[in-house]
Amino acid sequence: MSQRKYLSKVKNFFKKEGVLSKTLSSYNYRDIQKKMAIDVANSISAKKDIIIEAGTGVGKTFAYLVPSLLTDKKIIISTGTKTLQEQLYKKDLPVINKLLENPKQVTLLKGRRNYLCKYRLEQALVEDTFETEEMARDIKKVLKWHDTTKTGDISEASKISEKSSIWNRVTIGKDGCLNKECPYFKNCFVMDIKKKAQNADVVIVNHHLLLSDWKLIKEDATFLPKSDVIILDEAHQIPDLVHDYFGDYCSSISIKELFKNIISYIKYNSISILGIDNLAVTVDSYLSEIFNILDNNINRNNLNIVKRNKKFYDSLVNIKIQLEKLKIILDSNKEKSKDLESYLLRVIENLEIIKKFITYIESTKQDDSKIYWYEIFNKNFSLNITPVDISKQYIDIINSFDASMVYTSATIATNDNFDYFISNLGLETRIGLKTKIYESPFDYKKQSILYSPRNLPNPDNESYTKELIEKILPILKITQGRAFLLFTSYKALKIAAEYLENNYPDFNLLIQGDMNKSDIIANFRIMENCLLLGTSTFWEGVDIKGDALQCVVIDKLPFASPYDPITQGKIKYLKSQGKDPFAELQCPKAAIALKQGAGRLIRDFEDHGVLVLADPRIVTREYGVGFINSLPKMQRTRELEKVINFIVRG
Ligand code: SF4
Repeated sequence: MSQRKYLSKVKNFFKKEGVLSKTLSSYNYRDIQKKMAIDVANSISAKKDIIIEAGTGVGKTFAYLVPSLLTDKKIIISTGTKTLQEQLYKKDLPVINKLLENPKQVTLLKGRRNYLCKYRLEQALVEDTFETEEMARDIKKVLKWHDTTKTGDISEASKISEKSSIWNRVTIGKDGCLNKECPYFKNCFVMDIKKKAQNADVVIVNHHLLLSDWKLIKEDATFLPKSDVIILDEAHQIPDLVHDYFGDYCSSISIKELFKNIISYIKYNSISILGIDNLAVTVDSYLSEIFNILDNNINRNNLNIVKRNKKFYDSLVNIKIQLEKLKIILDSNKEKSKDLESYLLRVIENLEIIKKFITYIESTKQDDSKIYWYEIFNKNFSLNITPVDISKQYIDIINSFDASMVYTSATIATNDNFDYFISNLGLETRIGLKTKIYESPFDYKKQSILYSPRNLPNPDNESYTKELIEKILPILKITQGRAFLLFTSYKALKIAAEYLENNYPDFNLLIQGDMNKSDIIANFRIMENCLLLGTSTFWEGVDIKGDALQCVVIDKLPFASPYDPITQGKIKYLKSQGKDPFAELQCPKAAIALKQGAGRLIRDFEDHGVLVLADPRIVTREYGVGFINSLPKMQRTRELEKVINFIVRG
């Protein structure tokens, strides 16, 4: 199809009397949506990248879905959240597809671990040993479900919890899969969905799958099909996720599981290999030793603090020695089966990472380009290496395939520019890169008011959270709850929850952690006099339209914790480059997070409400202006009376 014809088809969908206006009763014509759709279509046909910030209400999903379905090119759409992924696949794409003369093939593709592996199921049944009673119960349910499922997608197994440990036993990662040598290869759920994705016109994935797949490009072992265009919605998450994915990682749990898998495989197949049980016991004791050395009171910490600890070093060296012994054993037995060969690869992978940590400890040179850090979770730990600057790696990867990229989100720009996003990903080297900002069509000046209370202490002050509650209480009484109280830390959330429970029991509190996120949101929509108290997870991906939400309170400017090892490492690196980390990292990152949190308030043309930005630094510090400029243009006040009048007038 010629570019002209394609663009005219796209315009025909979005014009005033176009396909969408004529066929969808709920559709409202929006000029900015049409413009965005034309931008996306141009990017698709010209094979050039574009970054688009589209404020709430622009209608960005239709603006990229229509051009995606009208082109002949193969498209991958990646989202940050499951909610958006489901919305695209189950709701938006079918609606548009029905309007096409030739509907397109659309597939939702998840990571391998989301599908039942028939080979692993058979192994689990034959082994018939389960760590817990719950697993023993669940395996029977898996077997029953296996007889009826057509997709093997484990999210469809409604009678088994998504968190059940049984899924680890009956799913498989890239390294474990036997591929063509598997007896179930022809009827395999994983291979089936992979084939469907190869043949589809549009494939929907999430950022995690996309990024983990990009890491496999060099090995030519990718799971995703090749595409002409990759559209990343919720693209503001990409820089942080790339840091996570482009690093190295090994964990005590993955090493223990590797030994467990090998031992049970040998037992199940009656293969005669001696010595692995003893290696497992020894490794386990060194892993426990390391766990005891790491400071368990801090979840994430820089590894520097144990770099000079001799016991830590000795334990790592001993783990390396045991893994080397295991490598020799598996290497000499690998001809016996494809499984042993894949276990060998996993051993080598872990060994290489352990060696990097040993080199780091032994080295006297300081390397600021990488952050070595650990994380503690459920009596286990992980050791991580995160590169500080991922721009070169990122660009090398996207240059290695012939696809154009469309990045979009309601929150990518800070202070009306994309510098932070572009420099993080190294996108300045992509020839022809375009950027666009489409502001929300909502009338924020009429629909909302931004309130910064007077006389609050500094956010570090012990009484800050309680004083904040007292300040906002008159607002919460007038709105009869219907408010989100968004905190930057669990500590502040707990203080606020306890204070409200003890002093203002008339409010119904929905507190993060008391139930799952979707139940909290569902209850919030229907409960009277209700306050929702949450941390970062509620700052994005929550869409409450209408009167149910009339007030959003943000306790502090969401600067990343200065104690976080990754933030610390990046600050140090930027300083070493002569840059200003506060201006180039901390402020833009916090401004994007703030925009996300504030964005919960106005979700529709009829919405009306108060945004309380309590942190006094927004008015007392020079950088406060930058934060205000990043938000939609609302009325602003420091007078409570004005806020009350605004709410009462409605
Ligand atoms: S081909 Fe791989 S994923 Fe499929 S059943 Fe066999 S081992 Fe499992």
